Amino acid sequence: MAQYDYDLFTIGAGSGGVRASRYAAGLGARVAAAEERYLGGTCVNVGCIPKKLFSYAAHYGEDIAQAAGYGWRVAAPAFDWRTLVANKDREIERLNGVYAKLLAGAGVTLLRGRAALIDAHTVEIDGRRVSARYILVATGGWPVVPPIPGSELAISSNEAFHLKELPRRVLVVGGGYIAVEFASIFHGLGVDTTLVYRGERLLREFDADLGGFLAAQMQKKGLHIRFRSNIERIARTADGGALRATLADGSALETDCVMYATGRAPNTHGLGLANAGVKLAANGAVVVDERFQSSVPSIYAVGDVIDRVLLTPVALAEGMVVAESLFGTAGRSLDYENIPTAIFSNPNVGTVGLSEAKARERHGDIDVYRTNFGPLRHQLTGSGEQVLMKLVVDRKSERVLGVHMVGPDAGEIIQGFAVALKCGATKRQFDATIGIHPTIAEEFVTMREAAG
Ligand code: FAD
Ligand code: NDP
Repeated sequence: MAQYDYDLFTIGAGSGGVRASRYAAGLGARVAAAEERYLGGTCVNVGCIPKKLFSYAAHYGEDIAQAAGYGWRVAAPAFDWRTLVANKDREIERLNGVYAKLLAGAGVTLLRGRAALIDAHTVEIDGRRVSARYILVATGGWPVVPPIPGSELAISSNEAFHLKELPRRVLVVGGGYIAVEFASIFHGLGVDTTLVYRGERLLREFDADLGGFLAAQMQKKGLHIRFRSNIERIARTADGGALRATLADGSALETDCVMYATGRAPNTHGLGLANAGVKLAANGAVVVDERFQSSVPSIYAVGDVIDRVLLTPVALAEGMVVAESLFGTAGRSLDYENIPTAIFSNPNVGTVGLSEAKARERHGDIDVYRTNFGPLRHQLTGSGEQVLMKLVVDRKSERVLGVHMVGPDAGEIIQGFAVALKCGATKRQFDATIGIHPTIAEEFVTMREAAG
């Protein structure tokens, strides 16, 4: 291996790149990683972590208001956006430091700068050329804002984390993960929020009950949603103090901020992948096989840049597979079935396994167990918020195929049920499990009447 400077060169020190680099170094490989922007990538800097911190912040307003039902009298609360942003930035700086230490501790050489491929074994970072036996592309993705007139006046989630002032009014465009999470965050922080979605059902990719139920809960909280609606152009108002978004139906909305959450594109532009002959999909994603090898044998790719499942734990798992297959003893592939996921909207959505529609398509005869109710906590708060819980079961084998929920801490709850699904648990085993009382989660082991 000594004919190369390194055994592995990773481009991008985000979720997938850091995990693969550390793991490969632990297996004895000589590893270097390049990072052009921030250690820890999207998740740490402009994704999961700051988003979850903002989401916690947004819940406090509601919690304080609801505490009145439990006898708490709190003087009119006031929220300070700048404190939140400064404290969030401090936490991220700490995490950036943790990532630097993790890489150094594993013996990975970190090169700060933008890397590009020169050929199948050579990378250039700020004029310096480095060779490696294997190259791992882990460059993530970037928000896509449709090129409508005035789109330069809009922001994406990247900028939302660094706004100088909290806007008084916001329009969030999209109906996926980021749109519903940020609409909930802004609304929870007291911003007059409107979600503008071109479709009829939020979270279109998931079980059909989830998006409808979530929308109803969000609307009950006072968040406005405009379905079958899209922005055609954005302009400054005559006095320059606000924005005017004109919708496709000709109506216009005045706002202080327009945030697009309309998907992300793989970060492959200007990476020199063509120099090495790496095959890309039409949307720029690196095409890889089940071991994450690209069309060029020495070049691998993981994470958002391969555009399979855009989640941090998936990027981590893919990174481990690459390190293990290149430098370990066991060649592994990754099982993409039953990946659990949560959407940190208010209320949360948690889901694992097949939607009702997918289960019907794949398995034919299925049973669906569904319940919705007002949780105990809200009997005293006066909040009309409801919880939805749903099980999708294969009638013949009795295997539970899908577990879906809209409600508080859905992510925390679904994580455990994801283990059960991975183990092939049956509805009979769910029924034989004793519940924990009084919890919301116990409903998953007490549902007896199939709805269809
Ligand atoms: P990234 O983490 O994006 O890392 C790529 C890195 O490569 C970046 O640091 C970038 O600067 C660097 N880079 C790019 N090009 C070059 C170059 N040429 N040279 C050097 N460096 C380069 N996932 C979850 O599981 N849970 C969540 O709650 C969640 N919330 C999210 C919220 C938001 C707002 C967003 C945008 C995403 C969220 N995600 C969440 C998704 C998650 O952040 C990504 O799936 C994950 O970060 C992908 O990891 P990655 O390693 O593929 O890429
Ligand atoms: P998503 O793919 O989840 O959603 C994109 C949304 O934008 C969809 O509702 C889509 O509509 C809509 N859209 C797309 N193009 C346009 C357009 N031109 N005009 C109007 N609307 C449009 O992407 P996100 O940006 O929300 O998030 C990217 C990924 O990041 C997610 O898929 C997820 O994997 C990851 N993520 C994970 C989180 C978590 O784990 N909690 C949180 C945040 C992000 P339609 O439905 O009609 O196609």
